[in-house]
Amino acid sequence: MPELPEVEALAGYLRQRAVGRRVDRLEVAAISALKTYDPAPTVVGGRAVTDARRHGKFLDVVFDGGLHLVVHLARAGWLHYREAFASTVPLRPGKGPIAIRVRLDDGSGFDLTEAGTQKKLAAYLVTNPQAVPGVAKLGPDALSADLATFASALRGRRGQVKGVLTDQSVLGGVGNAYSDEILHAAKLSPFALTDRLTDDQMATLHAATRRVLGDAVTRSLGQRAAELKGEKRSGLKVHARTGLPCPVCGDTVREVSFADSSLQYCPTCQTGGKPLADRRLSRLVR
Ligand SMILES: [Zn+2]
Repeated sequence: MPELPEVEALAGYLRQRAVGRRVDRLEVAAISALKTYDPAPTVVGGRAVTDARRHGKFLDVVFDGGLHLVVHLARAGWLHYREAFASTVPLRPGKGPIAIRVRLDDGSGFDLTEAGTQKKLAAYLVTNPQAVPGVAKLGPDALSADLATFASALRGRRGQVKGVLTDQSVLGGVGNAYSDEILHAAKLSPFALTDRLTDDQMATLHAATRRVLGDAVTRSLGQRAAELKGEKRSGLKVHARTGLPCPVCGDTVREVSFADSSLQYCPTCQTGGKPLADRRLSRLVR
């Protein structure tokens, strides 16, 4: 699932490549992906791309006249920039991976795609990004929040730090992958309770958040965005590395599984060497 660093890199790529170009046509192939009907997709035609921004994990493509295409890529969505399209025939609604295509006046453009059968990609054509419910409820941005803002956001929601960090209404931009990385860098258990973190732990967590996300943005920008794949992240230390050695201490990275997700952590770095209970595993043993 694309998180803050990948979406930030996509916005950066669009700012370089698409800003100043005029839209020929916006085509919708997956009707269910476009969550708004007014303004109609046809009104994007003829407008210039003026900016590309990020709100949490949402990408915001801005057109002149104050029109925004706001996109949540969900689990398997991505943006592919095309230097040229093979055909000028408009996309027809169908079951393929392309949800929305934006053709620009130099023959280039981009496809919003979604792999798999679970279609969760959501796009909104709006005059104000705050009209998108997921954007309106976003907490402070994880990359720019200062320590005081960060600490009050996290302490305002009592719970396990892993869940609180990924709650978009608490802090915008962090998902399952980067929360594993941030907690590893901060040497905190994913199950530590937010209201019991000391001031020192909170400061360490804040610094780790900025460092992990900032480094990932730099790495993502270094790749050509068109080739950048959400699932092919580089530089991760614990996320998706169950059973592999922790690059910091050499202990084996472990996992806790939930109904539809899992988290990874290093016991030596994060939990005083003690493995966390995995409910799925204990059920199997019992
Ligand atoms: Zn370790």
